[in-house]
Formats: sequence, C-alpha cells, structure tokens
Amino acid sequence: MLFELCPEERGFLDRVRTFVDQEVLPETRRWEEQTAFPDSIWPRLGGVGLLSMTVGREWGGASVSCSAYVEACREIAKGDPALSMNIAAINALCAAHIERFGSEEQRKKYLPGIVKGDIKLAWGLTEPDAGSDARRVKSVATPIDGREGYWHLNGEKMFITNGGKADLIILIARTGEKDLSAFLMETDQSGFQLTDRIHTVGVRASNTVRFSMIDAVGWHTPCTFEEAISLLYRGRLGIAGMAVGIAEKAFELTVDYSKQREQFNRRLADMQSVQNMIADSAMEIEAARLLLHKGATLYDQGENIVTISSMAKLFASETANRVTNRAIQIHGGRGMTFEYLVEKLWRDAKLTEIGEGCSEIQRLVISKQVLR
Ligand SMILES: Cc1cc2nc3c(=O)[nH]c(=O)nc-3n(C[C@H](O)[C@H](O)[C@H](O)COP(=O)(O)OP(=O)(O)OC[C@H]3O[C@@H](n4cnc5c(N)ncnc54)[C@H](O)[C@@H]3O)c2cc1C
Repeated sequence: MLFELCPEERGFLDRVRTFVDQEVLPETRRWEEQTAFPDSIWPRLGGVGLLSMTVGREWGGASVSCSAYVEACREIAKGDPALSMNIAAINALCAAHIERFGSEEQRKKYLPGIVKGDIKLAWGLTEPDAGSDARRVKSVATPIDGREGYWHLNGEKMFITNGGKADLIILIARTGEKDLSAFLMETDQSGFQLTDRIHTVGVRASNTVRFSMIDAVGWHTPCTFEEAISLLYRGRLGIAGMAVGIAEKAFELTVDYSKQREQFNRRLADMQSVQNMIADSAMEIEAARLLLHKGATLYDQGENIVTISSMAKLFASETANRVTNRAIQIHGGRGMTFEYLVEKLWRDAKLTEIGEGCSEIQRLVISKQVLR
C-alpha cells in the first residue's frame, strides 16, 4: 500500500504550508493569549480551500482526498493545533454532514457560503450528561405543526468547538424515546442562547462553549444517529493528523534545542539518555504517521475504516502526549516557560486524547471489532 497524492493535491498542500508559515505559526501565541482567532481567518481559510476539503466541486469545494485532508490537518497543527482541531471538525463533521445528509435545498442554501468562510460552522453532540455515552443525549426535537421539515429544539449542549462564533450548528437531538437524528440550527435566533465560554488548558484559541436551546427552530437533515455519527470515522483521522503534526513540531524543536544546549562540556544531543528519548519519539512519530496514512488510504479506496481510524487516533494522540512530554524534559526548566513553544504543544496535545472520543472509547471500538 502506497500513500500517494496527485500533483494537484501536492500543490494544495504546498499552499497550506505557505499559509501556515506566513499566517498561522507567527500568530499562534497571540491567538492563544486572546483566546480567539481573528474573524478575518475564516475568508482566508476559505480562500486556501481549508473549509471545503470534503465538499464537491459542484458547490465550489476543494474536494480533496482523505489523504490530503489528514495531511492538511497535520500541517496546520504544526502552526496552531487549535486551528487544526476546528478545521478537522468543520470539514469532516459539519460540511460533510450537509453535503451527505442535507436536501438539495439545504445544500444550495448553505454550502456556497460555507466554502467561502461566510457561514461559520460547529457540530453539537456533547451535553452535560452525554459525553462518551453519546446515546444519552437529552435535547429533544419536536416537529412544528404546519412547517414540514422544521422542528423545535430544546436542551443544552456543552464543549462545542466554535459554538460561539458559528452561524450554523449541526446538532444531534432526540426525536423519539429511542431515536436520535440531526438538525441544522441557525444561531441568529432567540431560541439559541450561549450560556458559557469554556476556557480550556490547551487549544485555548478555539471558541469552546456551552449553550441552550429553548424552542429553537431546527431544520431536519433526515438521517439516523448511526449515519450522522459515522462521519466521526474520517473525523478521527483528522484528529490523528492533528496529533501527528503536534508531535512532529515538538520533535523538530527538541532536536534543534538538543544540538545547541551544552552541559558537562557536551551537547544534550551527545548524551545517551537524551538520544534514547529522541529515538523513541522518532520511532513513535513514524509509526503514528504510518497508521494515519493507512487509514486515509483505506478511506480513499472505499474500505471500512472503523478500526483503523480508532487505532490511528489512539496511537497518534498518545504519541503526541509522550513526545511533547519528552520535549519539555529535554528543554529542562526552559521547557516549562512560555518562551518555548513546547509547553503549548504539550497542553494542546491533551485534547487529541479526549475530543471525538476519548482513548478509552477508541480502545472499546478496536476491541469490539477484534472480538466480534
Ligand atoms: C476542547 C474540546 C472541544 C470539544 N469539541 C466538541 C464539539 O465540537 N462537539 C461535541 O459534540 N463535543 C465536543 N467535545 C466533547 C468531547 O467529545 C467529549 O469531552 C468527549 O467525548 C468525552 O466526553 P466527556 O467529556 O463527557 O467525558 P466522560 O464521558 O464523562 O468520560 C470521562 C472519562 O471517563 C472514562 N470513560 C468514559 N466512558 C468510558 C467507558 N465506556 N469505558 C472506559 N472508560 C470510560 C474516560 O477516561 C473518559 O475520558 C469537545 C471537548 C473538548 C475538551
């Protein structure tokens, strides 16, 4: 199996790298301090094609392969992990949902604006009482009499990425005692009420919020819960890409630092225990990248990726956490200061073990497939 990108996608990723070098990495600390991305980021992301990687050309989308999508998430994470997390979710869970499950009318209404960055998106599954156990969602959807396709939404959502900035939220709610489905909810309505901005230790620039819905109007996208949730398989590869990008960046910074810093009349790079940490990190990053590329290739070949996407996310996220931890160790006291980027990467890495299903849930998915 060969991980290959066509010349057009290699060109796309070159543009992503240039964008990251010029417009993302230089700003990452500022965005974190401000706990926000500037509003101007959205049309810029749209211009590079980063908001429509999963959207077809007929809608003006970039329509790249899963292989190119995970590579883009990886490259962006090297500049700003919080931005990578947003892009991973917006593409795989939000835009893809509208294209796959939306009606022609819904696609026409939203996709052109999404592609350009005029319509900002979020994906709302998690609630105060429904996290890993996603089927416990309590938000209720009730059909509105005389308005076919429109439902009233009541309930609360928590930990929603970009939720305070989004114009449109793809939302999972209960349609019956045992049934759940998905709805498009515009945020410019009185029934949508932001409750809290949630400040996290990592990915701080990302706008994570809690909100409530009181008779908010939602537009149904007919699909089962399982169908809506199946978008998480590709989504998890995006988070795995983010994790690999974080690990690679921390590793690059650490290798450079170990060659410069001297103690006991020799470089850190010449000390065997430091070399051991560098060897372990190099090997684990390589293995994470291989799992990531295998998962993306299988997706592009139309294969089932349930197991491989959980494996890639699990391994890559734990790798990112180990590698960033070692990065701080090798930087010593300086590694714990805000002057060195490794501390931020270490904090940002934690999200990859939690978002889109914590590590324990990935282990459940893998073992269920293996033992069936
Ligand atoms: C920064 C950030 C952004 C997020 N963005 C979004 C978003 O955009 N949209 C969205 O819907 N959600 C989002 N989430 C929510 C995220 O998906 C959940 O936090 C995650 O699924 C875990 O749910 P929980 O926090 O309720 O933890 P819980 O479900 O309470 O689990 C806590 C811990 O218990 C253990 N555990 C739970 N269940 C099991 C089990 N069956 N077996 C073994 N151990 C278990 C695990 O260690 C787990 O970490 C975001 C979260 C964060 C932190």
